[in-house]
Amino acid sequence: MNIHEYQGKAVLKEFGAPVSAGFPALSVAEAVEAARKLPGPLYVVKSQIHAGGRGKGKFKELPADAKGGVRLAKSIEEVESHAKEMLGNTLVTAQTGPAGKQVNRLYIEDGSDISKEFYLSALVDRETSRVAFVVSTEGGMDIEKVAHDTPEKILTFSVDPATGIMPHHGRTVAKALGLGGEQAKQAATVLGQVYAAFVGKDMAMLEINPLIVTTQGQVKCLDAKVSFDSNSLYRHPELMELRDETEEDAKEIEASKYDLAYIALDGTIGCMVNGAGLAMATLDIIQLYGESPANFLDVGGGASEEKVTAAFKIITADPKVKGILVNIFGGIMKCDVIARGVIAAVKTVGLEVPLVVRLEGTNVEEGKEIIRTSGLNVIPADDLDDAAQKIVAAIKKA
Ligand code: GDP
Ligand code: MG
Repeated sequence: MNIHEYQGKAVLKEFGAPVSAGFPALSVAEAVEAARKLPGPLYVVKSQIHAGGRGKGKFKELPADAKGGVRLAKSIEEVESHAKEMLGNTLVTAQTGPAGKQVNRLYIEDGSDISKEFYLSALVDRETSRVAFVVSTEGGMDIEKVAHDTPEKILTFSVDPATGIMPHHGRTVAKALGLGGEQAKQAATVLGQVYAAFVGKDMAMLEINPLIVTTQGQVKCLDAKVSFDSNSLYRHPELMELRDETEEDAKEIEASKYDLAYIALDGTIGCMVNGAGLAMATLDIIQLYGESPANFLDVGGGASEEKVTAAFKIITADPKVKGILVNIFGGIMKCDVIARGVIAAVKTVGLEVPLVVRLEGTNVEEGKEIIRTSGLNVIPADDLDDAAQKIVAAIKKA
């Protein structure tokens, strides 16, 4: 689960990490009110969307030379005019895709005078089963580009969970960032606070880009991109409150209500599969035959008829879908249950695109019989290869 920058900063603050003062705003009036509560004379007006690269982003509705999604303001009037330009408009960044994201919230922050910008992130490293840090002097930049062009400027290390952050980690980071004296001490402290927040809140990723040193010599987290491990959210009811459903895919929200493992993709063939491995193989084979999947969907082992119906509705509601492939290998899941679910769903939502169904395994004959006698225009398939070719051919013909 992702959260907004201002929420991420509030979490960091709970663990003592230094962030600027600021207030979220949902309207121009709230933005002005927020600015009034800050000391000034420099303010930052920041678009809150679940994507990075906002500073360099462009608003669709504004002229090409208009400023991006993070703007400095030198007066409350300027905060107001930026807020007016940003709220309700669509920000396109390197991370949003061409469609962009509508800016519905702003964060009005006390502006900092920056002396140096660094990069600091933490993530779960599956290879070492530890929390790993990535640190670089090249802050405020695209870290992928730094990793590609100048990998020597990136330091990575992982932390032994038995000891947590040790003083030597702090010294290593300070040295990599070229910090000494008071700033080195502050950087080491921030590292410990960030690690505590990461572990304490079960984060999956935390990126602070930039981590800055101000002209007054203060180390500060100027940006925060946080995502939590969804599997551990049950341990953190307070984090669930931070969820902003308007930032998420509506189909994925609907799917989560039915406990369906659904991920929206860009292609044209809707997929309903049981088992994550088979679902991945189905996506691959669709690509192999020259089309792209519209989604990943694992209906799970013990899916009920109701769940299958819900899944089918989510797939057909997607206007990109030009054909549907149902691929079930019935083990715990029974083919007749799937067949009944598909038929029930087709009867309620209708079927306007070709549908290929491949059933195999437990109760396969009953399943095939239900489909055959349903009177619906379903194309039966014998195996995965056959099914993929049939759906690709069917949408080409349609
Ligand atoms: P991102 O573009 O989505 O990564 O958003 P950031 O929060 O990182 O802001 C983009 C850039 O705006 C930063 O890299 C800074 O260079 C600049 N910026 C953000 N806040 C301040 C601030 O308080 N003072 C100054 N001078 N620049 C800022
Ligand atoms: Mg940033």
